[in-house]
Amino acid sequence: TNATDFLLSVEGLTVSFDGFKAVDDLSFYVDENEIRVIIGPNGAGKTTVLDLICGRTKASGGSVKFRGKELTAMREHQIVHAGVGRKFQNPSIYDDLTVFENLEISYPRGRSVWGALAFKRDAAVRERIHEIAEMIFLADHLEQRAEYLSHGQKQWLEIGMLLIQDPQLLMLDEPVAGMSVNERVKTAELLNRIIADRSVIVIEHDMKFVEDIAHKVTVLHQGKILSEGSMERVKNDPKVVEVYLGH
Ligand code: ADP
Repeated sequence: TNATDFLLSVEGLTVSFDGFKAVDDLSFYVDENEIRVIIGPNGAGKTTVLDLICGRTKASGGSVKFRGKELTAMREHQIVHAGVGRKFQNPSIYDDLTVFENLEISYPRGRSVWGALAFKRDAAVRERIHEIAEMIFLADHLEQRAEYLSHGQKQWLEIGMLLIQDPQLLMLDEPVAGMSVNERVKTAELLNRIIADRSVIVIEHDMKFVEDIAHKVTVLHQGKILSEGSMERVKNDPKVVEVYLGH
């Protein structure tokens, strides 16, 4: 396969912090409609890889191509505009707004005041909000203030706030941390729904969840790829077993 056929092509990506290579000549490729899970021990470089892709951290070398565009030279907001969404571990929802309002303020719109007013009346926007709310299991909670949602519902709302911007790549950092078993099952269902039109990269520690969702697993260790492939393949890879038992 040619590298340009992938939604995301990461090649030779490197970043050093005071001479220490946190991500070291890393290459991997993500397909359209794929759920990729990145695993690896603490300090392996997982978060840094997502930071590099979304432009929060500047690469010292290498390339990140997304739908043919080079991202490493872009600023964070340009990368968002190009179609990359990133969810961090702590939800950045507005507690005193309702679920509907949280989704509404996340809807992409023009800069003019008139645009903002017209947008409020836009039936298409309301329809999209309802569609997203359905997808994130919050259709019956649209008028509820976000502060009264469960921890899991807050995580879903934040995913909804990203989805309403229609990213082609969504990156999630430990999406099921702190969730109940039922919420984990529903989150797996949510991820499978949303990849109909996009791809997802997930950092995850919960191996049961990884097994449920991953199309492909990339195992990082000391800033490099230790193993890659199906969950079945990587969990039986002696190198992976050694690193996980050693920690
Ligand atoms: P993981 O997410 O796999 O636990 P991280 O990407 O957070 O790993 O970190 C990888 C390594 O890079 C760690 O040794 C960490 O201390 C280091 N690191 C990450 N960000 C910075 C930074 N901004 N400055 C210095 N060192 C950093």
